[in-house]
Amino acid sequence: MQLFTIFGNPVSHSKSPLMHNLSFQGLNYDGVYTRYKLEDGSELRQKFFDLKIAGANITVPHKQHAFDACDELDEFAQKVGSVNTIVNKNGKLYGYNTDAPGFLKAISEFKNIKRVLFLGAGGTAQSTSIVLRDAGYDVSILNRSIGRLERYEKEGFKTFTFENFEMSEPFDLVVNMTSAGLEDESFPCPIEILKTVVPTAKACVDVIYGKVTPFLKFAQEQNKPTKDGSDMLLYQGIIAFEYFTEHKFNFSEIKEEMQKAFKI
Ligand code: NDP
Repeated sequence: MQLFTIFGNPVSHSKSPLMHNLSFQGLNYDGVYTRYKLEDGSELRQKFFDLKIAGANITVPHKQHAFDACDELDEFAQKVGSVNTIVNKNGKLYGYNTDAPGFLKAISEFKNIKRVLFLGAGGTAQSTSIVLRDAGYDVSILNRSIGRLERYEKEGFKTFTFENFEMSEPFDLVVNMTSAGLEDESFPCPIEILKTVVPTAKACVDVIYGKVTPFLKFAQEQNKPTKDGSDMLLYQGIIAFEYFTEHKFNFSEIKEEMQKAFKI
């Protein structure tokens, strides 16, 4: 029996154990997935070996520690500097990022999307902006504070703060990449900016899942197609499961089992 876990703090709310255990069970794979509240991220590597873990997901606030804990990094994880999935292969830790491809897959249902505006410039926006650009999207970043924007500017993205924002052409997709609305009822940016960018957008997406945030509510009031972060969560989980089980199962058969976690 192989042991898998999610490391984070907090982890009590995480759906990952349910998603992966339903998939192990449904696909008859000899694995079990638990959760581990890790206070000190620098202990991650040692915990991995002490607990004899075969694979893990890593959530807030330990994705940077996860990156540092690995012996080998997948090319994309290396490029974006963030790891959310680790697999133990013969005593060596291999790191991957499945959040960003999960997001890319989640927005694929929206057609004719070229120009994308991210509200937020944190870790999730960082990896996701790169995967989107590699897939041919034109991504601009709007953030509350200027500090986090430097890295994006260096990488050639168009960036704005609330103070200097202007829209030369409409954005096709507007995405809340912040945690605004997660535990409060705040908008990710001033309402005046939302009133500029949302009415001309083709769709709006939030990475927060399980609730209608003020941002999504505003977009729905403008009759825009919307989606929350549930599909992103599902797809990052499926891609992680492929790594955990060394690609023994295909995407659609994992999806069939894993999506049961969203119906409970
Ligand atoms: P970070 O802490 O790295 O970044 C947070 C970002 O949000 C920063 O840009 C910050 O701006 C901004 N922000 C926070 N609060 C506010 C606010 N009240 N108003 C405006 N801006 C705000 O977070 P992550 O990138 O790790 O996570 C972002 C979101 O993505 C979270 O809600 C998380 O739950 C979600 N997520 C969802 C996943 C899924 O599978 N659905 C997977 C991973 C993450 P500033 O720089 O000014 O502080």
